[in-house]
This record gives sequence, structure tokens and C-alpha cells, in this order.
Amino acid sequence: MLMLFALTIDNTAQNTKFTLVIDAGHGGHDPGAIGTISREKDINLAVSLQLGALVEKNLKDVNVVFTRKTDKYLTLQERADVVNNNHADLFICVHTNSAKSSLAFGSETFTLGLAKSKANLDVAMRENSVILLEDDYKTKYKGFDPASVESYIMFEFMQDKYIDKSIDLASTIQKQFSNFARRSDRGVRQAGFWVLHRSACPSVLVELGFISNPAEERFLSSESGQKDMATAIYNAFVNFKRDHDKKSGKQTENQKYVEITERSTENSFAQPVDSETEAVQPETATETKTTTEAKATDSASISNTVVTVFNNTDVKPVFKVQLFVSRVKLKPNASDFKGLKEVDYFEENGMYKYTIGVETEYNKIAKIRKEIIGKFPDAFIIAFVGNKKITAKEALKLTK
Ligand SMILES: [Zn+2]
Repeated sequence: MLMLFALTIDNTAQNTKFTLVIDAGHGGHDPGAIGTISREKDINLAVSLQLGALVEKNLKDVNVVFTRKTDKYLTLQERADVVNNNHADLFICVHTNSAKSSLAFGSETFTLGLAKSKANLDVAMRENSVILLEDDYKTKYKGFDPASVESYIMFEFMQDKYIDKSIDLASTIQKQFSNFARRSDRGVRQAGFWVLHRSACPSVLVELGFISNPAEERFLSSESGQKDMATAIYNAFVNFKRDHDKKSGKQTENQKYVEITERSTENSFAQPVDSETEAVQPETATETKTTTEAKATDSASISNTVVTVFNNTDVKPVFKVQLFVSRVKLKPNASDFKGLKEVDYFEENGMYKYTIGVETEYNKIAKIRKEIIGKFPDAFIIAFVGNKKITAKEALKLTK
């Protein structure tokens, strides 16, 4: 009886404030994806803390709860517990993407659902794979095996009553990433994320960008880049909260967007927004992006309404400068690089081939080669279409 009374009080208290749970993915002994100069867990935490700080500063009627504020490991279940124990109104998970190819870049936001492309399933599988770090995960996660494609079938039959709100927020976040933070927009996507599945409120999982792309990693590990990404999500949240208040008949408090003029990023950091078709995506399927289509896909019968656009046919080549070849994998700060930063590599015939620069225009890569030719007299220009290496000559023909 006493318990019941206490619970009632608790619920009443919760109703007066909007509770936002922010989850910085990974942490502690789980670094997430690893880049050349940074780790996913650190990027996720930095952006999450800044997002939370912005909300706390500007929206006094929001209770911000962090799943972690330090470099700490939490299981996916523990993260979902934070959401449910706090009766959260919204759950935002912050992650950073990674791909085998260093050419993939751009931001995407996921909501819960059945993945309609291998690329989306791969992201969910990678993010869910942290489950494997736990002992007896098979009993804890009721037979859900993050590495088995069959396990993901459950997301096909799941009804998620929060899906519309989640997709609305995901679309606004993507718009903000594109307009405010000037990132390449990879769209709103669906996949089976365990942590979203277990959370009883609208929820999204943001993939800020690719740690595996040198330029994007530089952006995401920079202070200004992190600030812009946090602000972009914050602006989308202001919009979500305004809608929420309107629907619940509540007067919206003075909730301020951060204007584009307050953006901190140097333009040179960002990938050009209009070059999205040049973003060579390792998996070729790109889902349609509009909110309405995404909604239709999810609320109606999934198998009938899938709209998938294959855009691998119009992929443009990307140029790089190959510096040298090595039999061993070198550390990023190895003296062999002669002080050059942001050196990338690819593997071919058991050799590590080190490159610098990622450009879609030949004259830009030629300029980079000119700059480093003093240090690396044998450096030459190569090109990729998708994962396929081609000669600069072949690439130039394609760009004509
Ligand atoms: Zn992650």
C-alpha cells in the first residue's frame, strides 16, 4: 500500500517535467568504432554532454538524464533501464559510424524497425554487438543473437506506437545536420537496435558520421565539429518539444533555437553538402529519405511499401595520392609519414598502401600531390569507384 502511494507521487512529479534521456554510446572497456586519431566512445560522450548542457541551459522545464557522463561501460539493458526507470519522454542515442571503406561519409539517424538494406542491418549489428561483451548474454537477452541475421526477424512483426514521433524527430535532426552543421545527409533509416526496442518512449539513434573517413573523423573529433553536431540535435529537440507541448496543451516556454550564424565550424571542415552523390557508400542501397515515405513504410505493411533507390550507377570516382607501400601496418604517428597527418591506407595483395587526400576533383588532388612530392618523390594519384581501385586516367574519363 505504501509502495503504491509512493509510486503515485512519483508519477505526478514526472508529469510536470519533460524527461530527456541522452545516451552516449559505448564507454569504458567498449571503445566502439576506432579511428586513426579518435575513438567512438569519446566523440559520442563529448557531443552528448554538450547536447545535454544546451538543453539544461535553455529549456528549464526539461529534466536531462545522461546514461553516462564519464568514460564508463554500461550494458544495453542498463541503458534501457535508465530510460524506463525515469519514465522518459524521449530517448536520444549518440553514436559514430564506421565502414570498411574510408570513402563513406555523412550523417544518418535511425529509428526502430526492420532494416531494408544490408547497409542498415550492418549498422544495427555493429551497434548491437556490444551485447557479446557480456557474460551469459544468451539468457539475459532472451535468445537475441546480435550476430545472427535471423534474430532480426523479430523487428518485422513489432508494432512500435512511438514510430511516428521518432521518425519526425529523426527527420528534423537530419535537416539540422545538413543545414546547420553542413553534413552530408544520408537520411532517416530503420534497423533493429536492441536499445531502442527496449525503451518505452519515442527514440532515435544518431550516427554522427564516419570515424573511418579521415575528413569526417577530423571534423567529429574537433571541438567546433562536436559543438555543431550537438547544436544541430539540440535545435531538432527544441522543435520536438514545441510539438509535444502543443499536443499536450501546455504553454511552451521560451525555447530558443541556435541560429546558423552562431555556428562554429569553419566551412573547410565540412564535406560539401551538394556532393552527396559523390559519397561512395560501401553498401550500394540508399533508402528514400522523405518523412512521408519513411512513415508509410513503417506504419503500413513493411514488405509492400519498401522504396529503395540504388544509386551506385552514378557514383563518381574519388581521387587519392598514394605515398608508399608497406608490408606492415604502421602507427598513425610513424616516422615513415614524415610528419604528414591524416594519412589513410587500404589493403591490396597483402600490402598496406598509404594515401593522403580524398578529393572528387582531379585538380584538387593534383595540388595535394604537388605539396607533398618533395617529401615523397614517388607519390602518384590513384582513384576509387566504390571499393574498386582504378587508375587516375580511367577516373578522369568517368568524370567527363
Ligand atoms: Zn556505436
